[in-house]
Amino acid sequence: MIKTDILIIGAGPTGLFTVFEAGLLKLKCHIIDALPQPGGQLSELYPKKPIYDIPGFPEVKAGQLVDNLMEQIKSFQPGFTLGERAKDIERQDDGSFIVTTDEGTKHHAPIVAIAGGLGSFEPRKPPINNISKFENKGIHYMVKDPEQFRDKSVVIAGGGDSALDWSIYLADVASEVTLVHRRNEFRGALESVDRVKELKDIGKIKLITPAEIVDVHGDEHLESVSIRKNNNPEEDYSLETDYFIPLFGLSPKLGPIADWGLEIEKNAIKVDNTLDYQTNIPGIYAIGDVNTYPGKLKLILCGFHEATLMCQSAFAKIHPNKRNVLKYTTVGGVTGFDGTKKEAPKSVIRSID
Ligand SMILES: Cc1cc2nc3c(=O)[nH]c(=O)nc-3n(C[C@H](O)[C@H](O)[C@H](O)COP(=O)(O)OP(=O)(O)OC[C@H]3O[C@@H](n4cnc5c(N)ncnc54)[C@H](O)[C@@H]3O)c2cc1C
Repeated sequence: MIKTDILIIGAGPTGLFTVFEAGLLKLKCHIIDALPQPGGQLSELYPKKPIYDIPGFPEVKAGQLVDNLMEQIKSFQPGFTLGERAKDIERQDDGSFIVTTDEGTKHHAPIVAIAGGLGSFEPRKPPINNISKFENKGIHYMVKDPEQFRDKSVVIAGGGDSALDWSIYLADVASEVTLVHRRNEFRGALESVDRVKELKDIGKIKLITPAEIVDVHGDEHLESVSIRKNNNPEEDYSLETDYFIPLFGLSPKLGPIADWGLEIEKNAIKVDNTLDYQTNIPGIYAIGDVNTYPGKLKLILCGFHEATLMCQSAFAKIHPNKRNVLKYTTVGGVTGFDGTKKEAPKSVIRSID
């Protein structure tokens, strides 16, 4: 059982910044995210796009902002459960919560902060009848740990950036990489398309287009896939493989959180924005894109603000008898749980009286 003060669901910018604000109040955080990497929409949808409305940054690339947030929270040593989806929640007699993921990992905390954005990103699955039989037994919809594929044969399907990028990466890891796409043209970045073609020319990637995987076979574990070329069933043939990775994109869904008894309006969680972004269940907060209230704006900076107020309220719940005096970080400094300390020398702060 993983124990923490604030259990954050969602490692998007809102969830990450929550760790910082909680850390200033000496509260420990643990984050669950269904994706294998932190950053939410910024990492998954637009890592190279510049953002122009983060205060103090005239321009910052989404991926860089995620790196900066990770650096900012490092000293507060958050725990991460990545690549797992928060599925069930159980309220304990003392008002705390146990949250269990789809892989059975249990987390216990007095406060749950849902920073789930548009929802957890669910893979778009190809329409193959018995595909679920081999899920996690040779079929994977995302790459959590590339080392899993070392010296194995891998078939990747898809025509976007993920399919191209993982084909390129795994060409140096797997024993054999076959990329199957239903068109001759790819949707991904031009340089990635060129790199895949180079790797094909030197025999490090097999490229099969226009083609689709139409069937999967095996006993306990995947053993082979059926490939249909030119949309012609007469050209179907079988290819032996250890793994099949369909990469057809991810679509966000609120998913199991929608069944936690929270008040939901238009696929978002209703919160009290006059106070602390708490939901209708005391101890569960919803911050960032996942919540709704009159005037809500789905912007990164709004998520940061909501996280800040939410942490103040969480502190009062966890320590009902302690008074928290707000201190500016320039005055109070930032003391990490790893013993590091950042503090401005007193001589550089002018007195205001
Ligand atoms: C193309 C594009 C451009 C944008 N440009 C800007 C911009 O310039 N400026 C700006 O301010 N905003 C911009 N936005 C909006 C911005 O990305 C969002 O406001 C921001 O990502 C919200 O952050 P978040 O942390 O609340 O949610 P998200 O970034 O959506 O992160 C939520 C995370 O929660 C995880 N999650 C959800 N449910 C579960 C679960 N049950 N279990 C485990 N994990 C779960 C998801 O996997 C995800 O990683 C843009 C959005 C898009 C799509």
